[in-house]
Amino acid sequence: MEKKSKQINQNKMEKLVALLKRRGFIFPSSDIYGGIQAAYDYGPLGVELKNNIKRAWWKRFVQSKLDMVGLDAAIIMHPKVWEASGHVKNFTDPLVDCKKCKKRFRADHLLPANAKSPGYDKEKPFFVSDYQCPDCGGELTEVRQFNLMFQTFMGPLQEDAAKVYLRPETAGGIFVNFKNVVDSMRLRVPFGIGQIGKAFRNEITVENFIFRTREFEQMEVEYFVHPREWEKYFNEWLEIMKGWCKFLGIKDSNLHLQEIPESERAFYSQRTIDFEYDYPFGRKELYGLAYRTDYDLKQHQKFSGQSLEYTDPLTKEKYIPHIIEPSLGVDRSVLVVLLEAYTEIIGGRTTTTEATKELEVVLSLPYELAPVKIAILPLAKKESLVVMAKKIAQDLGNNYAVQYDETGSIGRRYRRQDEIGTPYCLTIDFDTITDQAVTVRDRDSMQQERVAIKDLDNFFKLKFN
Ligand SMILES: [Zn+2]
Repeated sequence: MEKKSKQINQNKMEKLVALLKRRGFIFPSSDIYGGIQAAYDYGPLGVELKNNIKRAWWKRFVQSKLDMVGLDAAIIMHPKVWEASGHVKNFTDPLVDCKKCKKRFRADHLLPANAKSPGYDKEKPFFVSDYQCPDCGGELTEVRQFNLMFQTFMGPLQEDAAKVYLRPETAGGIFVNFKNVVDSMRLRVPFGIGQIGKAFRNEITVENFIFRTREFEQMEVEYFVHPREWEKYFNEWLEIMKGWCKFLGIKDSNLHLQEIPESERAFYSQRTIDFEYDYPFGRKELYGLAYRTDYDLKQHQKFSGQSLEYTDPLTKEKYIPHIIEPSLGVDRSVLVVLLEAYTEIIGGRTTTTEATKELEVVLSLPYELAPVKIAILPLAKKESLVVMAKKIAQDLGNNYAVQYDETGSIGRRYRRQDEIGTPYCLTIDFDTITDQAVTVRDRDSMQQERVAIKDLDNFFKLKFN
């Protein structure tokens, strides 16, 4: 049974990845050169979906909240930022190489890989000499620490003094702007700063499509509180994040909130909750919520020599604010939205002979996230219909993402729109010329109704609100 479900899941991932390429959502990066490991490009529909997710997040986490402001910090920052944050010293993975087959492994990953061997005892301390290459059984090198930050050089000289990093997380840009934001925006604690942006980690192991890539995008909030109030705001953000998961269409049964025990938390964090998701490749991390105390601002105060103390304008109390951090990945959000929306209908939903397939795929995306909201389909490539259809597409295009499509049979065109998650298809037929009405088809119920062209605006306003 377990073996079978594993296979179904693997197939689901493969089928989804193939669909996303075929329908213009996600392509392997540099595809004509054979691709590059674990890098992906968002195609015409993928960029719409991704932008819709980012817009929805910004609206919910930043714009609609009176105590939130936004920021867009530079990717390349002063290298001292990453000394202060501990990334230069500690953002490392332990590496070992196989002397025989030259493969490279994360030392900590060898433990589970060897767990099945007789004599394995997970309580024992880790000695590389006790382990062999899980691939060929060869001897392993000593453990070396490998820093996960991408390095480059600023300016014309490739020397240590010019060394900079691509940011490994977006949070750093928020911490170092705390003072600028307080001074310029007249905000009183508690308040937060939200940011969406790219981050880079030179991961040793990349895996599972867009789940773990070396270049990725984050949506992060750093919320500044008085230390007495951290629990209250931690719980508030927890609820906001749960609501976000619901909005994305994540089923409760696929989502698991893990309270991270003290022994596994970062030393400065007093509470961390991981949002884990049941991906087809196993239960893994989706989002995180952490209470980071005053660690970040204290570190940056120490390394910059600038006071990051906050003075409450009413009570005149001086203190370093504490931080609650809801951290969400854009690419993982895209992945879970697609996994939740991907629906196969064995045997198909339609009975029209030409379009009947053994298997139909519908992407049941939330309306707000669908890359195309309305497809405009003239029944035939006759000029009278095409002219009307294009006029309707132009008009609706002012308010909605529309796609005009006149190629192939109507059944085939419906299938294509179902596969990309378009909520409504609008068909212009020969009756349209006389009755000035069109047929609107609902993606999920497949119900069709006749709507007058002049009422379309109102019709969709109701549907999409
Ligand atoms: Zn080996």
